[in-house]
Amino acid sequence: MGKGGNLGDSILWVNCVSCSGSFYCELDLLHMDVHLICPFCETEFLAKAGAQKESTAN
Ligand SMILES: [Zn+2]
Repeated sequence: MGKGGNLGDSILWVNCVSCSGSFYCELDLLHMDVHLICPFCETEFLAKAGAQKESTAN
């Protein structure tokens, strides 16, 4: 981590479907049937299932 500092285009922010914890993964995973593992509660879910919508929450 800390290499580049060019975040934005290549990451996908997701919310855990179980604990709503927010974390990010590689954007490419959105198009794959790959399960993410929540770093907070270790729930596994598809990236597309937890992808944050483009909205202005808070
Ligand atoms: Zn979680």
